[in-house]
Amino acid sequence: MQKIKMTTPLVELDGDEMTRIIWQKIKDKLLLPHIDLRTEYYDLGLENREKTKDQVTIDSANAIKKYGVGVKCATITPNAQRVEEYNLSKMWKSPNGTIRAILDGTVFRAPILARGIKVYIPTWTKPITIARHAYGDVYSGVEAYTNTQGKAEIIMPDGSKKTICNFDGAGIVQAMHNKDESIKSFARSCMNYALDTKQDLWFATKDTISKIYDHRFKDIFQEIYESEYKEKFEKAGIEYFYTLIDDAVARVVRSNGGFIWACKNYDGDVMSDMVATVFGSLAMMTSVLVSPKGYYEYEAAHGTVTRHYYNHLKGQVTSTNPMATIFAWTGALRKRGELDGLKDLMEFANKLERASVQTIEEGFMTKDLISLFESDVEPKAATTDEFLDAIAKRL
Ligand code: NAP
Ligand code: MG
Repeated sequence: MQKIKMTTPLVELDGDEMTRIIWQKIKDKLLLPHIDLRTEYYDLGLENREKTKDQVTIDSANAIKKYGVGVKCATITPNAQRVEEYNLSKMWKSPNGTIRAILDGTVFRAPILARGIKVYIPTWTKPITIARHAYGDVYSGVEAYTNTQGKAEIIMPDGSKKTICNFDGAGIVQAMHNKDESIKSFARSCMNYALDTKQDLWFATKDTISKIYDHRFKDIFQEIYESEYKEKFEKAGIEYFYTLIDDAVARVVRSNGGFIWACKNYDGDVMSDMVATVFGSLAMMTSVLVSPKGYYEYEAAHGTVTRHYYNHLKGQVTSTNPMATIFAWTGALRKRGELDGLKDLMEFANKLERASVQTIEEGFMTKDLISLFESDVEPKAATTDEFLDAIAKRL
């Protein structure tokens, strides 16, 4: 059989623990038999990050800038316990944080749906993708407590002052900021992703109460939509829809899904947990970083599944769900195919996704999904290898 050719390498970011093991299995069982896989490989495993003083993480992000598309395995973010476990010279920063700082952009999280896997809101028949603005607001806020009477003020760069509160007793204040440039990037990333995936884009803030802060978000989105995207959206038959956050929450619950929900930083933090829970499992959640300049980095939303890895090291067979990691690869391969005009590569990515979902729908799945499965067929628990082999058979 002729293998599918690639013209531009995919930037491959290997990672840690159980997901590192699954990574290799996916390549061996599902990709290499069908594709003449071209990747530029970066080993972000913690040992190599230590060895390169984390330079490998920076290099991998720059490679994504060069080639446009990357696929990343989950990685350990070191804490004190990991520093000891891996004998690290430094508590290296989160690789995702480093990469995000270099590429800029917005993280989109979307669930993988399979018939039989129970969705807690039965009307949500299509996925809901959360786009979370990952800069500013309360996450870089400044807070203070006072037990002194008196005036707390904001002083702006031009020297003008605004009174926050004239305290007559103890109390608290909070100040936060955002930047026009960051909000513009956020808007463009969301609008590009909506065009890419041909889904409507919803955005909501509390602009009726926050007449300067939240209103600025609303205005910037509207300006960018009118001046850069309106025609493209109309041509693609999709809609940009703005509403108040309260109204959005009510509409989302009553919706059928199938749209992107752009959220300010805090809303995205809270709502993505809600959406992930309704759709079932973190192991079925994909994640992609889209930069405003059009770079893409695909990954699974979950971590390195440490508990399973320790079992694996003890020689036990694991039933770790590889779905989100498979979909990171298919997302990246499909995007590479799209950018390079390689139809067969795009079709392969679609076929691999269908084969993976079908395997579950026919009742064969990893242990984490068994209790979520409701169907006429009796579900059977598979080990990671058995599950990957069952998918490979369908390709
Ligand atoms: P985690 O790896 O996502 O795992 C938490 C638990 O969720 C697992 O113990 C497992 O539950 C379940 N789970 C997650 N993914 C699964 C899968 N694919 N199949 C089956 N079950 C799955 O989170 P964590 O334990 O908090 O973090 C572990 C390491 O990952 C940490 O070092 C953290 O820094 C890193 N991390 C990396 C990323 C990233 O690279 N994007 C994201 C988050 C965390 P059971 O134990 O009940 O089976
Ligand atoms: Mg959260």
